[in-house]
Parts: sequence; structure tokens; C-alpha cells
Amino acid sequence: MHKHHSALGLVASRPVQPVTLIRPHAAARAARYFVEKFPGRSLYAVKANPSPALIRTLWESGITHYDVASIAEVRLVRRTLPQATLCFMHPVKAEEAIAEAYFKHGVKTFSLDSIEELDKIVRATRSASDLTLCVRLRVSSEHSKLSLASKFGVAPGESKELLFRARQVADALGICFHVGSQAMTPEAYGNAMERVRQAIVEAAVTVDVVDVGGGFPSTYPGMEPPPLEAYFETIHRAFESLPISYSAELWAEPGRALCAEYSSIIVRVERRRGDELYINDGAYGALFDAAHIGWRFPVTLLREPESNAREMAFSFYGPTCDDLDHMTGPFLLPADVQVGDYLEIGMLGAYGSAMRTAFNGFGSDETVTVDDEPMASLYTHVEREVASNVVKL
Ligand SMILES: *Cc1c(COP(=O)(O)O)cnc(C)c1O
Repeated sequence: MHKHHSALGLVASRPVQPVTLIRPHAAARAARYFVEKFPGRSLYAVKANPSPALIRTLWESGITHYDVASIAEVRLVRRTLPQATLCFMHPVKAEEAIAEAYFKHGVKTFSLDSIEELDKIVRATRSASDLTLCVRLRVSSEHSKLSLASKFGVAPGESKELLFRARQVADALGICFHVGSQAMTPEAYGNAMERVRQAIVEAAVTVDVVDVGGGFPSTYPGMEPPPLEAYFETIHRAFESLPISYSAELWAEPGRALCAEYSSIIVRVERRRGDELYINDGAYGALFDAAHIGWRFPVTLLREPESNAREMAFSFYGPTCDDLDHMTGPFLLPADVQVGDYLEIGMLGAYGSAMRTAFNGFGSDETVTVDDEPMASLYTHVEREVASNVVKL
């Protein structure tokens, strides 16, 4: 793997294929932030970006627990980090996957949202007595950009029996939920914690773990969230007021917030048609979200000397032969962008590289480590505060 100091430095070599830039320092900073400031334990949700290099970086920065959702993710994290604690948080699993996770990889924590799944877990682990079972509640996704509200979770009013039955076989009983990805207000968690309270009261069970899931936001054009501190405060306050024992644990499963800043891509403009740019990565590459859910990512023209043309709005076409490979944006770039120019598209560390395919013969694995700053960050202000406190001392 090559190393460069900056995106601009890399472009001097005129890469023909798209290049993924990774910034380990940005992921390490996010991990340290969660480890120090989240008032509980942070599990990294591996699906957001399963790169082994990233997983090692997070481990070295203090993330010891990993939320895995498939047997392939279990094997991957176990192979990469033999000491890590793995939690199998997909509520619908193959019985064979549960058995392999438990007997071969030492996984003891499982989530579930039905009696059928509880029966599967009990059978697959041969009635193990050392399980942590987390019952997934259905909560609203109304404050989030990507809903996770329909597919999983036991509905309000129906959790009583499942909690009661899980309590009978679990060593530790947990309640978990997911407010949807990119939750734009802390209230999302406040409201979900209210559901947790109702469920605990209705079932009258002792709860050992409350897991607030993922959904912690990153920052994108037009989607700038309040500071993460505000989310942590809301969660902490709600957790403290739940009817649970003093020894109960608080968990979270951040995916996006830990890795969004980790990578970006460099693409080349291969054609310009008015305000449409044809670039060499797209919907089947790292830009799935830009194409299919209209997500906007920050973009910059990598040219020296810098263009001083006024900014205008562009849309992008990716390299494949179909109309679906289109990203509406708008992406703001200098009006004189032309064929042969290179662009950096930022904040693609979460659900960007993870979704890449080689459809139509496009797609590239070239990865370069850089040490410049990501195009946006939720964490640089924290570093500056720490630095200025040090200066004051
Ligand atoms: C996807 C997922 C996460 C991570 O969500 P983010 O929005 O990326 O933080 C966490 N937990 C579960 C169960 C998930 O499915």
C-alpha cells in the first residue's frame, strides 16, 4: 500500500482508475472520542466498513467490542482480532451461523426479536447458560435519514412475553433498538429510551444491558447534526432514569460515526455535458448512497493552481452503461471543470467502499493512505479544545 501526504499530491501521478484514500488518523480520533466520551461501551458495527485495516485501527484506539451481523463478519473479525468480543446483533440468523459463532468463535451475545429466534438460539447453543440475549424493540426512525423501522424489532405492546421468556434462558438480558441511520437529533434516542422504559415496566424483568444501537450521525452537505456530546447527554440522562439495577450496562453500536471520515475517493472526469460530469466511479462503486438515496457528499476539484472560477452545481454520471448510474447531487464545483480533471469525493468511509461492486468491469481496489484532514469532521474541534487546554495549563 502506498502512502502520500495529501489528495492533491496523489493526483500528480494521474491515476487512470478511481483511488480510495484512507485516513487512519481520522478513524482513530473518532474511536478515541467514543471510548472517552460515550457514557458506556461502544461496539463498532462492522457492516459500515469491514476493512481489516480499519478494524485494527479501531482496536488500537480502544474499541474492543464488535457488532457483527453475518457469519462472514464473525469469521472476519475473529481472524483479524483474536481477542475481540463479538456480538451477533442481527435479529434473524441461520441456526448454523449461531452454532458456529458460539462453539467455534466464542460469541455469547445475540440479538432477537421473536420467540422463533429465541428457540433457534437455545437449540443452536444446546441450551448454553452463559448467553447475553438482547431483545430488539421496534422504534421510530422519524428523525433519521435512513429508516430501520420496518424490518426488525418487536412491536410496542408485544415485547412482554419475549422479554419474559428470554429472561428465563439468558445469563444477562439486554434490550436494544436502532433509531435509523444518520439520526439528526438526540431526541430520537430520548424517545426510544421511553419505549425501553415501557417495555421494562410491562414485563417486570431485570435488565442487565441497554443497547442504544447505531444511528450516530456524521456530517454531510445539508446534513450538519448537533454535536455528538448532545446525543451522549440525552442518552446518559435517559439511561440513569430507567428502572434497572446499578450494575446494568449501557452499550452503543456506532457504525457511520466511527468510519465516515476514514475514506474518500479520487475520480477523474472523462466527459462533460453542460452541468453533467461523467466520472469513473458511481452507483455500483462507492457512490451507492449518492445514486439511490440522493445522499450528498462534499466534493472538491484537485487542481493546481486552484481554479478561481465561480462555483456551480453539477450532477454526476458513473462509468456503467445504464441510466441508474446517476448521482443528482447537487455537487458544487468551479464552473471551469473539464475532462481530465480530478475530483475528491469525501466522507465515503461509511457505506461507501463497503458497497462497491465490479459491475460492467468497473471498480478498483487501489488504496492509498494519506495524512491530510478529511473534507469534513465532527471531531477536529475536540482535538483543538484538548490542544488549547494543554496550552492553558
Ligand atoms: C447498521 C447497524 C448499526 C450501525 O448503524 P449506523 O447508523 O451506521 O451507526 C448498528 N447496529 C445494528 C443492529 C445495525 O443494523
